[in-house]
Amino acid sequence: MKVPFVDFRNSIATNRQEILDAMARVVDSGSVILGAETAAFERNFAGICGAGHCVGVGNGLDALSLSLRAAGVGPGDEVIVPSQTFIASWLAVSHVGATPVPVEIDPLTYTLDPNRIEDALTDRTRAVMPVHLFGHMSDMDAIMDIAARRDLFVLEDAAQAHGAEYKGRRAGSIGHAAGFSFYPTKNLGALGDAGAVTTNDPVLAERIRSLRNYGSAKKYHHDEVGFNSRLDEVQAAILNVKLRYLADENDRRRDVAAQYLEQLASSSKVQLPVEADWARHVYHLFVVTLDRRDALSEHLKAAGCDSLIHYPITPGGSGAYTGDGIGAQPIADRLADTALSLPMWPDMSAQQVRQVVHAIDSF
Ligand SMILES: *Cc1c(COP(=O)(O)O)cnc(C)c1O
Repeated sequence: MKVPFVDFRNSIATNRQEILDAMARVVDSGSVILGAETAAFERNFAGICGAGHCVGVGNGLDALSLSLRAAGVGPGDEVIVPSQTFIASWLAVSHVGATPVPVEIDPLTYTLDPNRIEDALTDRTRAVMPVHLFGHMSDMDAIMDIAARRDLFVLEDAAQAHGAEYKGRRAGSIGHAAGFSFYPTKNLGALGDAGAVTTNDPVLAERIRSLRNYGSAKKYHHDEVGFNSRLDEVQAAILNVKLRYLADENDRRRDVAAQYLEQLASSSKVQLPVEADWARHVYHLFVVTLDRRDALSEHLKAAGCDSLIHYPITPGGSGAYTGDGIGAQPIADRLADTALSLPMWPDMSAQQVRQVVHAIDSF
């Protein structure tokens, strides 16, 4: 039997008719830009996150960059970012003309290490972007404390953390704003590109509403140089259906993770992901680490099991940022060299988990 990395066929088959009905509602409504489905999704998603406001946008990268722009972050400003993340976190900073300043990740949770932030602050630092990498929240209390003392804007990159919790509070409800992606493989995925910003700040929400729509709050009145980055109405309709399954799918991801953790607990082959006592992990990815990562990946392949590497190159080590004088980031580099993501999706069967575990045991 082959074990793919993810397999969403079953979940799409389960809600196929609901999705088609939702798409048909948009077709029949005649209102296909910022219509009733987008408005409903914004209400629903704000509610799920425990945030006051949600603004739907075109994708996760725009959710982050429009938030920074709305907060007034721009050229000459520095933004603290984690040393290892998906590169879009850093790109959002670059897109507003500011400079991403990497701070090392915590070696256990792989999220921004609050103890290292203060050393990286300068009089140009304007914002901090904690990334809830792989579905595990960043240590938000510590980060919000530093931000309050230094008057910094905190933007959560929650693109991998829909429904994740920090001390019982949801991703997207703690920072000054949060950017979400609904790229199809995320825990809440559309059937194309989509994203959203959540915030408790009504003024910031209105500014992003304007920025996503040509800088216009009132038709043909353009108060600033805006963008076209609206949440697509058909994707919003699909997301309204899929949002109903998010909590259950996150529970089932946690159940798959529990099986891996139990069956690999005594394995000396890999280091397992940890969940801080203040975190509720939603396992967007199940990432183990080991020195002989490439060899295990090959071994799994031979045993019929797919795996992926998130991410083999750090943003600072990528071509996009060469020449920017970004120094060595040993913890990030080590994660890039040792991380291996095992198959993980809500419908993964107990037998499929056992097959992956068995293949690791025989490595
Ligand atoms: C997916 C992702 C993004 C970007 O989202 P898109 O919708 O693909 O633009 C940003 N940050 C992180 C951590 C992501 O995983």
